[in-house]
Amino acid sequence: MSTLKKIGVFTSGGDAPGMNAAIRGVVRTALFQNIQVVGIHNGYQGLLSESFEPCHLGSVANIIQRGGTFLKTGRCSEFLKPEARLTAAENLKRQGVEGLVCIGGDGSFAGASALYKEQKIPVVGVPGTIDNDIFGTDYTIGFDTAVNTAVEAVDRIRDTAASHDRLFIVEVMGRNSGFLALEVGLAVGAEEVFIPEIQVSVDHAIEHIKKGLQRGKGSSILIAAEGQKPGRAYDLAESIRKKSGFESKVCILGHIQRGGAPSAKDRNTASQMGAAAVNALIQGQSDLFIGLKNDRLITCSLSGSVDKKKQPYPDQIKLIQMLSM
Ligand code: ADP
Repeated sequence: MSTLKKIGVFTSGGDAPGMNAAIRGVVRTALFQNIQVVGIHNGYQGLLSESFEPCHLGSVANIIQRGGTFLKTGRCSEFLKPEARLTAAENLKRQGVEGLVCIGGDGSFAGASALYKEQKIPVVGVPGTIDNDIFGTDYTIGFDTAVNTAVEAVDRIRDTAASHDRLFIVEVMGRNSGFLALEVGLAVGAEEVFIPEIQVSVDHAIEHIKKGLQRGKGSSILIAAEGQKPGRAYDLAESIRKKSGFESKVCILGHIQRGGAPSAKDRNTASQMGAAAVNALIQGQSDLFIGLKNDRLITCSLSGSVDKKKQPYPDQIKLIQMLSM
């Protein structure tokens, strides 16, 4: 029997499909163990303003199939300061909250790790981001749904590209990471994928398009991760035009990739991770997050993942290039 009496759960950073399923997994697992749960609104902002709501079985009814997060999420620059983390710890103690489950991306994990290190608040992370870029885990909640949303959109674009013999550059999300772009690129049979981590030259892409033309291929799809500024695909289009004279159409998928009903994979992974996070807190574990390795749940060091960069395999780019020759 657990000695824990009350825990808190919150979502932070960018929303991802499956976050609701993770919250449900946390709330129902805790209640099953007679542990009270409070939902904290708007990520770290809610910790500072004590925006807490008690969660019952019914609080998480009818949400497993919904995208976004019913607890809301957000970014909170104040939490970068140690004084804010002290305030958060004081608020949690006053409310009798003895442990936290943080559902979010690498930034949210950095905040959770700092809260644990400085204030010794037990905290367990659940990775939720469409970027799939958290070091230590093969998978983050929301990735599968976002990939499928983007693939469906690119398939539609390909119909137009093929009908008009056009070159399209489709920009997907991924400010610092290209996992989404790579997965989408492979699934749609893209000619080339541009990601922040691995350099692919515009010249290489042009050669690739020319080879396609020589064998009678009239249309091509290039996938670009947005990089530091959304709209990067326009720069690529301009650079291709200047070097080769090829005109291209740009389509920026934007936020449609973040929303929508989570896939079965995301709902199930989220449910399992949410339950595992509560069990870790019950066992007195902290400063860790629940990850996935070779399709099995694992625990990873939270502070160990902060400031480490998960790297994509260069082989995936080579495969995409080879298969679309
Ligand atoms: P994500 O979790 O999706 O990567 P962000 O990078 O925007 O999203 O981080 C979400 C929030 O986590 C930030 O707004 C901030 O409140 C908190 N955070 C991020 N980095 C740190 C840090 N180094 N120290 C403390 N809090 C942080």
